[in-house]
Amino acid sequence: MTLYTRRLPPGCLGCLGGRGTNLYVTGLCTRDCFFCFNDKPRSDETVVHGIRVERPEDAAEIVRRFRLRSVGISGGEPLMFAERVLGILRALRALPERVRIDLYTNGDRATEPTLASLKEAGLDSVRFNLAANGYDTTPVRRCLRFFTETTVEIPVIPADMPRLKEMVLELDALGVPFLNIHELFSCCENRARLAAKGLADKGQPPPEHLLWRPVAESEEAALELLLFALENARTLSVYYCSTATQEMISRRGLRRRRRLASSS
Ligand code: SF4
Repeated sequence: MTLYTRRLPPGCLGCLGGRGTNLYVTGLCTRDCFFCFNDKPRSDETVVHGIRVERPEDAAEIVRRFRLRSVGISGGEPLMFAERVLGILRALRALPERVRIDLYTNGDRATEPTLASLKEAGLDSVRFNLAANGYDTTPVRRCLRFFTETTVEIPVIPADMPRLKEMVLELDALGVPFLNIHELFSCCENRARLAAKGLADKGQPPPEHLLWRPVAESEEAALELLLFALENARTLSVYYCSTATQEMISRRGLRRRRRLASSS
């Protein structure tokens, strides 16, 4: 279910163990990707571990209460509200136990001053969704000056394979340590736009704990890219996060939540 070359990104370890969570800063975004699975219409709300919060301290308290080890700050585009992200980071860093914190962004608002502030506030790593900007590596180059653990994380769109292979070589030459690739999936929020591009789901029933289905040929494309990286990249590590991996993570997370609920 989990394939990777070289080494796994440290931010993925807590998540794979069912001890990670998503801290959704806002539903608003600077882009409108055809594959986006966020709820529409978009709304500006902050949600942690499925719980809506108003204050950064409340977000940190949920992370503490559920004994979570890693937090993925995401959206929407979280850097539309950089001050909100910084407040959340400071609250998480005030917790007695150190948690791992990754930020997911499309890079549009990842300016030098913002990246410097994120670093100072204790962020561990930035993950760029370059599928949102046509695989432009400019924000990645900028980020490498602040975060050695700069990562690219994208869904695999089969028709983009030639550009994806170029990107692998470019990231490797830049010294980017990690590329995470996801199986493309369809859900009620993106199904019509995927279908308009000829991307249909595999027609299987949805996995037990997920509301989405894998898109046909995305897995084959992800495996092709993984093999290409194995044969051609010198230092870049590539990790393939499939729908089956996501299903396993959800099952583990659910088991943990139930255990914690019954012991409290
Ligand atoms: S950048 Fe991310 S959140 Fe924004 S539209 Fe694209 S996939 Fe959705």
